[in-house]
Amino acid sequence: MASKRQIWVGGVPIGGGAPVAVQTMTKTETADYEATMRQIRAAADAGADLIRCAVPREKDVDALRRIVKESPIPVIADIHFNHTLALKALDAGAHCVRLNPGNIGGPAKVAEVAEKANKLGTPLRIGVNSGSLPKHLHALEADNPVEALVQAAVEFVELMERLDFENFKVSIKSTSVPNTIASNRLLASKIDYPLHLGITEAGTKWSGSLKSAVGLGTLLADGVGDTIRISLSTFQAEEEVKVAWEILKALKLRERGPVLIACPTCGRLQFDMDTVVAEIERRLERYEQPIEVAVLGCAVNGIGEASHADFGITGAKNEGLIFAHGKPLRKVPQAQLVDELFAEIDKSLQIGRVEVDQSKAAEGANWLQKIEDENADEMTPERLAALGAEHARKEAEEATVIRLDEEVSPTAGRRFTRA
Ligand code: SF4
Repeated sequence: MASKRQIWVGGVPIGGGAPVAVQTMTKTETADYEATMRQIRAAADAGADLIRCAVPREKDVDALRRIVKESPIPVIADIHFNHTLALKALDAGAHCVRLNPGNIGGPAKVAEVAEKANKLGTPLRIGVNSGSLPKHLHALEADNPVEALVQAAVEFVELMERLDFENFKVSIKSTSVPNTIASNRLLASKIDYPLHLGITEAGTKWSGSLKSAVGLGTLLADGVGDTIRISLSTFQAEEEVKVAWEILKALKLRERGPVLIACPTCGRLQFDMDTVVAEIERRLERYEQPIEVAVLGCAVNGIGEASHADFGITGAKNEGLIFAHGKPLRKVPQAQLVDELFAEIDKSLQIGRVEVDQSKAAEGANWLQKIEDENADEMTPERLAALGAEHARKEAEEATVIRLDEEVSPTAGRRFTRA
């Protein structure tokens, strides 16, 4: 399923088992060198491995020449309709050129670009978009858009191979999440070139992130996709990068910076968790270490499901508890919870371990135990989930016993039908 071939965009490997690369696109006019560089730096700081810049005019190529030299990450030139600009972008030193062979002016012009890219050793991204498929596939598109997208991509791949050009990745883009999933799955079964994934015009930060998480997440979980871009209607390219990282971190495909986990809250919540979680998330942005930080809305369940977190807090009415690796560290007044949590994180990261003051830890553990005991009968979401898990475990155990019974004696299982 995963692509076997590997290409290099600047110093970034794509495909062939390399980590899934995060890319985004600048939203500035590329010709505006200063603004574009500011955005590239912001995207790189947020974790972008690659940046793509639109190059629709001559003046953009001029700026691109400088941008390529100054950019902290490899630059991909995004070209449509004009193969001369593609040639110029290659001459300008772009680390990769993205083009759609279907709208660049025919196979002869694609051949010209491929020849120059071959000479320079520069990879291309060949893209297919729903809505701009070649004419001969329009009837198929109306009937089966997924087949049509894949057919177009395969035809472009065959064209590149006829041109003796194999240094490329492929993208199929659609505004439809199901079509994106189905077409990329099908394409991955047909070709072994690296695949770039994205949902075209996904939408706002909220809806676009969700669509991308569903579409790209499904493919990535299957092992399909070597580089991703989250397309959001925002002028901040770094926002797209942050979403891309959350998807990769959620799938445990890559690690970068902290992971924040928080309970969903319920009627037992005893403090303003919305504000606290937002504040913790904001402060965590400056950390690069892959620490896991948990926020629990109440102490009724103890540390419970957050016991694997590196650090955490659990709040109550007037005070809360700081914990680390499932063990209480100390209780602190509610208003100081966040500051104390970060003081603990900073100190621990600095000395490389969690320092435990035994008397404060014991005081915290007693406080927690008291709250747990007082609320022992409460059916919290966590306790219900634990009961559900226990029930499922017992059922699975019983099913195994019955299966083993049947394997040992084929007639044993019939006792249920006889009864
Ligand atoms: S019971 Fe669970 S979900 Fe409700 S506030 Fe407490 S930790 Fe959060």
